[in-house]
Amino acid sequence: MKFSSMGLSPEIQQALKACGYEEMTPVQEQAIPLARKGRDLMVNAQTGTGKTAAFALPLLQQMIDQPKETAAGKVRALILTPTRELAEQLAVTIGGYADNLPFNINAVYGGVKHGGQANKLKAGVDILIATPGRLIEHIEMNHVSLSQVEFVVLDEADRMLDMGFINDVQALMAQTAAQKQTLLFSATSSPAVNELSHKILKRPVDVRVDKQNTTAQTVEHVVYPVDEERKLDLFMELLEEHNWFQILVFTSTKKQADHLLDRLKQTSVKAALCHGDKSQGARRRALADFKAGDIQVLVATEIAARGLDIEGLDHVLNYNLPFLPEDYVHRIGRTGRAGKAGQAISFVCPQETRFLAKIQRVIGDEIKRIYQRGFELKEREVMIQAPVKKTSKKSTKKDSATSQKQGSSKSAGKGKNTAPKARKKSRSISSRAGGKKSRAVRKKAKK
Ligand code: AMP
Repeated sequence: MKFSSMGLSPEIQQALKACGYEEMTPVQEQAIPLARKGRDLMVNAQTGTGKTAAFALPLLQQMIDQPKETAAGKVRALILTPTRELAEQLAVTIGGYADNLPFNINAVYGGVKHGGQANKLKAGVDILIATPGRLIEHIEMNHVSLSQVEFVVLDEADRMLDMGFINDVQALMAQTAAQKQTLLFSATSSPAVNELSHKILKRPVDVRVDKQNTTAQTVEHVVYPVDEERKLDLFMELLEEHNWFQILVFTSTKKQADHLLDRLKQTSVKAALCHGDKSQGARRRALADFKAGDIQVLVATEIAARGLDIEGLDHVLNYNLPFLPEDYVHRIGRTGRAGKAGQAISFVCPQETRFLAKIQRVIGDEIKRIYQRGFELKEREVMIQAPVKKTSKKSTKKDSATSQKQGSSKSAGKGKNTAPKARKKSRSISSRAGGKKSRAVRKKAKK
């Protein structure tokens, strides 16, 4: 279905044309008409499906339909998002959709001084994009009030809960007006997200555009079995062999990321780091350089896994597998976006096969193994192949031929599910939320 059939304002249509959008994506097709009717929505859409426009366009259209002066220190539409990078990205993307409209759009997030943000908030904001913790700080300093908020979007709600923002999110929701529209977007589904949706949404409509917790069909998944201590050498060899341009590499720890970057610095490959020990400025620069195509390799930890939109990114590499399969879905969601092809490469050592088994179960397919000559496992028998219940997702003959051939290394393909029980979820949803800050606002929420 085309955007032109939606009756959106000429200003929005013109902006969409400038973005090169013509046909709506499935999530846009479902969510935009419902949101325009003022319904609360619970949207479960995989990453890269065009969900920003799915909430931003109906929001902008309703703000045009119901024109209102933005009072000083007040906000009309609030978008909560888990990370600074996402907040910045949303501000740019939504700014593009609102290019021909008079709305002022601002983002507030931690890691930078309050001053500049405070001045903008005090003047009043039409669309405010915020990370929960920083917004609470501004409210406590009386820079802004949410009492006139008409629209709320919770973007990447699952991630916000994973990051321990549940109390902050609820405290902020309690500050908003009772009469409002709320749209909850989550890339993955979980009991915690469902519980939150019950608490904050009013008679919501469920929008589900794809199977739960799945990855884009356009992504090819491959696994390189390799011992942990050989991963760095394997990476350097493959990078030279394939000359991947560009590749986003996820490591589990900052130390591994630093180590990888040190090695890359010894070569002519342009690379940068994005992890929690880097200043906001350095993280922003690394991302901007990567997005601009000025660097070939971006090494990142989980903070870069959500929502980041890097146009035409062909390769994502998991230097380590994440503990939770949902995190795999998010990491590799950086590639294969908007229907484009992408490759998700994972280095898997024998100790990680239990995570691999879980990931395969979630994506509903067995992942092709590639055995790189010279990187044979010390203990070949441990690289088990967990059987996977096939779903409707196509599994090509070529894929199974490849794994059988590779399985002839005896160990692979025996099909005996001897994977140890996956590690229990270690992250507690609310454990990190009860920090020092934001007591006053939370107290208010409890009342
Ligand atoms: P999002 O899931 O919102 O991060 O969007 C993923 C990518 O899809 C971004 O690069 C968007 O610019 C792009 N996109 C969103 N909607 C459309 C559309 N209807 N047609 C073409 N590209 C789109």
